[in-house]
Amino acid sequence: MEKLAKTAGPEVEQHSGLKYPHLLNLYDVPPLEDITIEEFETCAIDRLRVLSEIESSFARNRSFDELKKITIAQCNKHIPMAETTATTVDRDAQRRADVIGHFVLRLAFCRSEELRRRFVKAETTLFRVRYDSCSGTERKNFLNSRDFASIQVTPDEKTLYAPQLQALSFGNERVATTEFYKVKWTRVPDLVERRKVFLRGGYAFVPSREQSSIIFQEFQARLEKALEMTAKALPRLDEDTRLMPVLGNLSQAFLAGVPSDWSPAENNGEEIRADMIDELSRKHFPACMRNLQDNLRRDHHLKHFGRLQYGLFLKTLGLSIEEALLFWRKSFSGFTDDQFNKNYKYNIRHSYGLEGKRANYPGKSCQQILTSDQPGATDSHGCPYRHFSPDNLQTALLSMYSSQGLTSADLPEILSTVKAGHYHVACTRVYEITHAHQGVKKGEGIGSGESVTHPNQYSKESRNLEKALIEEVKMEIDGGDVTMGV
Ligand code: SF4
Repeated sequence: MEKLAKTAGPEVEQHSGLKYPHLLNLYDVPPLEDITIEEFETCAIDRLRVLSEIESSFARNRSFDELKKITIAQCNKHIPMAETTATTVDRDAQRRADVIGHFVLRLAFCRSEELRRRFVKAETTLFRVRYDSCSGTERKNFLNSRDFASIQVTPDEKTLYAPQLQALSFGNERVATTEFYKVKWTRVPDLVERRKVFLRGGYAFVPSREQSSIIFQEFQARLEKALEMTAKALPRLDEDTRLMPVLGNLSQAFLAGVPSDWSPAENNGEEIRADMIDELSRKHFPACMRNLQDNLRRDHHLKHFGRLQYGLFLKTLGLSIEEALLFWRKSFSGFTDDQFNKNYKYNIRHSYGLEGKRANYPGKSCQQILTSDQPGATDSHGCPYRHFSPDNLQTALLSMYSSQGLTSADLPEILSTVKAGHYHVACTRVYEITHAHQGVKKGEGIGSGESVTHPNQYSKESRNLEKALIEEVKMEIDGGDVTMGV
């Protein structure tokens, strides 16, 4: 079984002294101490990364086991939670961050029915993954600490209903040695639907092995109720100019399905030259940048937001200011030197932090491209998965990627993902298809199942794959495994 990150330690007495005694949490007590604005934001963003990956897993129809594996990897990376028995980590600090992240996201996602529904689904899944992955002791201590309003079935009742209880597809389990709990049947609709319980007098008789359903249902019901109450209280927050922009950004990121996860600073800092761009675009660019390069090549011009989106992407890819000026000058071939210098040179230098405010702007993330500066009919910036009509998207994808293995048989799956609003998942699937010849399998995403969250991350991973392949071939040649043709 996959486990959440934990450090071994003694199994007993660890509850004493901890402010947050359990790894599992129903989040019924909000954090009451002082929280800095920075903590407020970072705890929420870290949690949002995990929830977004859970949403991507739903969109990709991953099995629960696959989802669990990816979620655990994301949890360990962004919101690690050691078990209570761990002795070498600050469990209270981890759990405090977990609680803050949860409650901040409640504030961000209580505003609409749609946001509430998606948040509850993702949070309940996260709880389920943790419940499933933690040790039996951790789980038992948590269950013993709570009252889940279930009544233990008495031996007399078990005898009375033995045939019905036995009929719950028990295999070799014996009714007499199994614990059953009675709960109002409305609390376990999934078990009723799957005929996993015996119903009598408004109660469902739940065998202990199905007890987790009661817990998950309880978690979900509490969260739904809490979100409605938070929504009613939220107008009082509307005037808080420190928190409202943060909350607005968080909910936008979740609606776009993408947190601004990948940071351009993680790029490998390799330099590229102007004359390499066209070829790089054919092999390593996501659809948004490929579309901009194709339009630039065809029209010898891009409008303002297109130049901004593409220029920052190229800069982050490793294009120096000198090479950028060369690239744009050559691309804008219909203009005189004078026109180019007067109308475009300043903006290019500006995006490199050499003019105006001298800010060094990074490449735009998927979230920024998906949610800001919506393109008009004659613009070429934006995300094709979101901003193209289905017909145009199909044509564009085939023309961009058929040389890399994408066929019309792949389109229905991509289109249905786009229709459900999971644009970056569609982009990730295209990455998998176009890199299948380099060994990328369905579900692997850009590595370890992760989805694309930044165009530069797409390109970086694509280039890394190619480099690894070249290295492999070189090693084979050096090792004398390759026979050269005559
Ligand atoms: Fe570009 Fe992101 Fe859209 Fe992919 S999902 S095309 S990387 S904006």
